[in-house]
Amino acid sequence: MWICPTCGEPHQDQFKECWRCIGAEMHQHFTEVQPPPVPAKPERPLRPLSSILFRMVAGFAITMLLAIAILQGRGLPLFEVAMAGATIGAGFSLLVGFTLWVLFPFQSGAAPTELTDREQPEEDAFH
Ligand SMILES: [Zn+2]
Repeated sequence: MWICPTCGEPHQDQFKECWRCIGAEMHQHFTEVQPPPVPAKPERPLRPLSSILFRMVAGFAITMLLAIAILQGRGLPLFEVAMAGATIGAGFSLLVGFTLWVLFPFQSGAAPTELTDREQPEEDAFH
């Protein structure tokens, strides 16, 4: 029988360490790790608004042209084809904007230390 000098909990001799102190340590560690990183101080720079808007506009234009190209061969009136193309393009554009804004708000690529050293090839392709 021994008594933990830290918390005063009595223990059997077969226990080498105090379960109470280890448990408290683990709990403290757990609670320290649990809260997600505060978004107020992002490690990576946020995407510039213009970058997202550019992708949205590009996505809108490309999807609309694609949709029009596909629908044009079906003998539909040009107005309906254009409207359908614009609707599909707008939907895709919103999807792109939502994806970038909500799911990937940070600039793509490597850790912040590497960002300063080299340009991201994916970013360059759109500029
Ligand atoms: Zn203890």
